[in-house]
Amino acid sequence: MILPQRGDVYVKCGADILLNGLKTDLEAEAQCPVCGYVTRFHTVKRRVEDLAPKDPMLHVVEFGMGAGHVGVECESTHIFDKKDCLTKWLSTYTGKRGLVISLPEYMASLSQRLPTKYHEREHHSNTTQLGSRVLDDRKASHDQL
Ligand SMILES: [Zn+2]
Repeated sequence: MILPQRGDVYVKCGADILLNGLKTDLEAEAQCPVCGYVTRFHTVKRRVEDLAPKDPMLHVVEFGMGAGHVGVECESTHIFDKKDCLTKWLSTYTGKRGLVISLPEYMASLSQRLPTKYHEREHHSNTTQLGSRVLDDRKASHDQL
């Protein structure tokens, strides 16, 4: 993934990218473990944008870490560029069964479960689709810093 301040950063798995995407906007690339094809996307304001190809699938194994935390088992968590690759991989996979979900859906689920720590740089940008409660939470977390 590419962070605005730090440049290229290698992460262990796809879920790591999304977890980081909750905190900051970033560009990411993930190589399919089956065919090697690269899935690219951006995270913008805790949402997955510009997905290419259009519908990659995520297999993610989570472990409980208490409220407000999500842990993922990286060896079992991958982004697949297409469903066929996921099916193929699952046919030989013997580890713990995880969640099969699209990237935007998983991002939304993480965003719901984790408290807001996102640092917005573009304060004047379009935020009309966000509820006012979310904006208040953001303002509160800024004030604490
Ligand atoms: Zn693939």
